[in-house]
Amino acid sequence: MSWAFLGLEFRWVVHSVLDSGEHSNAVPDESGLFDSLLGLSDLLVVVLDATGTIRLFNRSCETLTGYAADEMIGQSIWSSPLIPEDEKPPILRAIASVRAGASDFRHVNHWQTRAGELRLIHWRNTVLRDGNGDIHRLFATGIDATEQERAVHARDHQRRELHRLLDAFPSLVACLDRNLRVCFANHGYRDWFNLEPADQVGRHVEEIIGARAFEVLEPHFRAALDGQKSIYHGEVPYSHGGTRFIHGTYVPSRDDAGNIEGIYLLAVDITREHRLHWQLVEQVRRSKAIVDNALDGIICIDTHGRIVGFNPAAEQIFGYASREVSGKNVAILMPERTGDQHDDFIRSYFENDNNGNVVGERREVTGRHRDGTLIELLLAVTEIKDREHYFIGFLQDISQRKQAEREARYHFTNLAHVTRVGALGEVAAGLAHELSQPLTAIAANAEACLMRVAATDSTDPVLEPALRQISNQSQRAGEIIDYLRRFLRNDHSGDLETCTPGELFDRVLMLLHHEIHVSNIQVLRDIDHHVQPCTLNRVQIEQVLFNLVKNAIDALEKVGSRRELQLRCGMSSSPDAWKVSVGDNGPGMQPEHLERLFHPFFTTKSDGLGQGLPICRTIVERHGGCLEASVRPEGGMMFSFNLPLDSPNHD
Ligand code: ADP
Repeated sequence: MSWAFLGLEFRWVVHSVLDSGEHSNAVPDESGLFDSLLGLSDLLVVVLDATGTIRLFNRSCETLTGYAADEMIGQSIWSSPLIPEDEKPPILRAIASVRAGASDFRHVNHWQTRAGELRLIHWRNTVLRDGNGDIHRLFATGIDATEQERAVHARDHQRRELHRLLDAFPSLVACLDRNLRVCFANHGYRDWFNLEPADQVGRHVEEIIGARAFEVLEPHFRAALDGQKSIYHGEVPYSHGGTRFIHGTYVPSRDDAGNIEGIYLLAVDITREHRLHWQLVEQVRRSKAIVDNALDGIICIDTHGRIVGFNPAAEQIFGYASREVSGKNVAILMPERTGDQHDDFIRSYFENDNNGNVVGERREVTGRHRDGTLIELLLAVTEIKDREHYFIGFLQDISQRKQAEREARYHFTNLAHVTRVGALGEVAAGLAHELSQPLTAIAANAEACLMRVAATDSTDPVLEPALRQISNQSQRAGEIIDYLRRFLRNDHSGDLETCTPGELFDRVLMLLHHEIHVSNIQVLRDIDHHVQPCTLNRVQIEQVLFNLVKNAIDALEKVGSRRELQLRCGMSSSPDAWKVSVGDNGPGMQPEHLERLFHPFFTTKSDGLGQGLPICRTIVERHGGCLEASVRPEGGMMFSFNLPLDSPNHD
């Protein structure tokens, strides 16, 4: 036997133990050396005899187990606490197997230390036989592989954990070798290709993903094998599971020396996200098309009042290009006074939680064009509360509509004139009647005068009264004809005139004299002698009085007897104003009619237009007054209005 052991000729060591039976009986000098060497060794050295009794238990064994050699030597290894029960049978089987033939064998088992810890030992054994070939001694040298085993364990555990982690990825993770064969594939393969990851190992990646997909991705595999990180973002037509939109990353994998030994690939399926992205893009495009082509101006502002959106219709309304106003305070689109307050509006909106109902209401506002002109607008505001808070204003330029309304009002005024003209049909009949007598008298007296003058040269006593009569009557006829002419011409020249109520009443009564006379209406005039003259649009105020008196006459038609028309004018103070009223003792009206009295087109007459009272109210308001109607307690209606002496007298 020539097994080198710790630099000693092992044969010698063995013999010394064998020959003496106890190492203490060996040659003293060399035995001390042997003990020292065994004490120095990190190897565990145990010697057993044929019965399994421990004959040698070196220092390393003592250190590892915590048992002293004196405790262990002489004890059977099988009854000692060193080997766990369940591990004894295989060792015994191994010994039995060498009993007949081989002299060396190896095995692995645990030793249990005094502290109860299990240590894993790798044993190498050699058997010494006697002259009969029977086992005389068993030499066992062992290495404590516990730490090594733990490290291996830990590494395996780490690898398993890593794989578990990679399997949990909702993406494809794989490792390919230089020939693009799969070394590792995570569970993503099962989800994507319905293939067990373990079945992929060793296969070429093209077999798994298909030729068309490989064609797309191969440049990226190659780039990674050339040492570059490569990214592919796009569609891949996989042979199994169809086309997917992926984000793939391909990086080289290197050994410890830095040589590229393959590639790692990580592919994320973003087909759904990609679809959603495009749906969103489409949606944004559609919304933009709607906003861009909307007829309404659409302006979006943030909570600081800064413009963040301004569509083409808004550009048209305000004369600014979107880029010019973007980021600026929306106040630039408002008249100065409103603009200055706008930041406060927003602040109070948040403080009072939309108390002013700005959002959700439609209202008329005034805007300011780039050139400074004011624009009448209809505004509706809505708000978006997302991660950011925005207000969106929808605007319609209603300048034209408002202008049309003003024109319509103007036409109403003209319509009133037409109404008056219509009334003049009747007035004309009255006038004809009124004028016929004076004209007849004029003619008759003129004839008489002419005859007298012709017959005698001297003055006749009849002549003077006749001529006076001619003069009076013709003057009155002239006045009526003149006023009628102006009235029909709708002549507003010299509109503002200083008048007394008496003059106004006179004129209106003169115009309606015929109706009043024919209807047998008693006119009661009551003018306060304190009333001062007032500067007003005479024709318009006469028109008001005319309409009110005419309505009263119409109403009195329905009364059998004692028809009364009351015309009053007094003074009221603060401000100084005329207080004019027109009353009648007609049938009055029902309360529900009273509410609609001033609504345009409200009429109860078969030939009525329902324009008179709304126009009257407008005229009075333009004079700074207010026209009201009430049912008199004693029956009939009372219309009254005030006219401030310093009225604005708008047209
Ligand atoms: P119109 O005379 O063309 O009907 P108005 O606006 O002048 O239009 O009058 C509207 C309506 O008001 C009349 O149709 C009538 O029903 C009612 N009304 C006006 N004045 C009187 C009045 N003095 N007494 C009773 N009803 C009146």
